[in-house]
Amino acid sequence: MQKLIFVSIWAVIVAQGCFSQTNHSNKTAMDSTDKNKHAAYSRTDTGKVVMNDDEWRKILPADVYHIAREKGTERPYSSKYEAFKEAGTYYCAACGNALFKSDTKFESGCGWPSFYEPVTKGSIIYAPDHSHGMDRTEVMCGRCKAHLGHVFNDGPPPTGLRYCINGVVLDFTRAQEAEKKYKDSL
Ligand SMILES: [Zn+2]
Repeated sequence: MQKLIFVSIWAVIVAQGCFSQTNHSNKTAMDSTDKNKHAAYSRTDTGKVVMNDDEWRKILPADVYHIAREKGTERPYSSKYEAFKEAGTYYCAACGNALFKSDTKFESGCGWPSFYEPVTKGSIIYAPDHSHGMDRTEVMCGRCKAHLGHVFNDGPPPTGLRYCINGVVLDFTRAQEAEKKYKDSL
């Protein structure tokens, strides 16, 4: 009897892992940077990811969940990406959506990774944020609506924008690795 209960519980756990409608048979799921990621995480699927907070809480690391779903803010100068200069692409740590290229990253001195332009217009969504007595514009992931940070009008040319992003919600892949993955997928 005990064994039957155990098997039933296991079946429920496995079934819950299959909630995603996204295709997770693609190669990126095998990448070392993607291990431990959940089924909806994809670097290639652009379909929207819609899950409630309980579902996100189960699959995201606590620090990513706090910023992505509870609109938290990491401590300034705490991100490994704050002064990071390698060439590559930054992805949403919650869902794998491409967000920023390293050639649009700049040293803003504000304490968080800063960029002047997203990968595409659709990679980010914007919302007015009047919290903490300030008028700011919140930026969220265009695929899963994870809170990323804010955008300000004091950035460098050509956009004049400063996307001030929490490094905790970023995954980075070096340009050579991205190129190799592309070739492997052909
Ligand atoms: Zn996302």
